[in-house]
Amino acid sequence: MARARTYPVEAVVLQRIRMGESDLALTLLCDDGQQRRAVAKGARKPQGRLAGRVQLFSETRFLMARGRSLDVVAEATLKDPHTAVTASPDGVEAASAVCEVARHTSFEDAGDPFLYALLRRTLRAVGEALEADGPRDGLGPRTGLVVAAYTFKVTSHQGWRPATEACVECGDPSPTWFSAAAGGALCESCAHGVAGAAFGGSTGAAWVGSLVGLTFDELLRAPVDRATSDWLLEQAHLWAATQLDARLRAFEFLLGL
Ligand SMILES: [Zn+2]
Repeated sequence: MARARTYPVEAVVLQRIRMGESDLALTLLCDDGQQRRAVAKGARKPQGRLAGRVQLFSETRFLMARGRSLDVVAEATLKDPHTAVTASPDGVEAASAVCEVARHTSFEDAGDPFLYALLRRTLRAVGEALEADGPRDGLGPRTGLVVAAYTFKVTSHQGWRPATEACVECGDPSPTWFSAAAGGALCESCAHGVAGAAFGGSTGAAWVGSLVGLTFDELLRAPVDRATSDWLLEQAHLWAATQLDARLRAFEFLLGL
């Protein structure tokens, strides 16, 4: 039986790249957990049929037409534009870092619906965190915590789970350092032998464990200060860049690197 020429799919727009005069090449995370690329023809024309309908971070219902190399967007309907996220520069920066990690942890040939559910919840949580943090100078602690939590959750799901309960080298039960290169928590004496290990005090590694294990509802209620959140965000970036072996530019921008 011939494959249908069109198919419906729901997806979050992870990346938009300009193509030609008025088109956009989209990278999507679809509801089946697959990453897909598609062309939105004329999406940059102000009067175009797709103008304003293929926004970054938006949950969108697409009708796709199968193309020879790339599929083509036939129709697009915004389902949830995540306006709480896109309304502020901090929200856009945070969501950009999240979607960048999503691009590096999803694949074109492997469906995994958990990835889509986690990304949707994370984008909602970014909006909730921005509201809880309130207007401020610089990224708020809850917003940073959500980005760090997504990063550790999705990489853990894909097989890179940090060891947080004891020193990865010697098993010391009260680790005070953390290292992406070593794979997790370290005690003081083992940390001396690991370049780039970061001091996290008595709660640093446990916090990383909480980011993996707690729900976003629980994390959004947890009291967290800016220093802790900044430290966790830094470790999340190092963790993802190391395990995914990728340069994460949007994440670097969020950290001010
Ligand atoms: Zn040790």
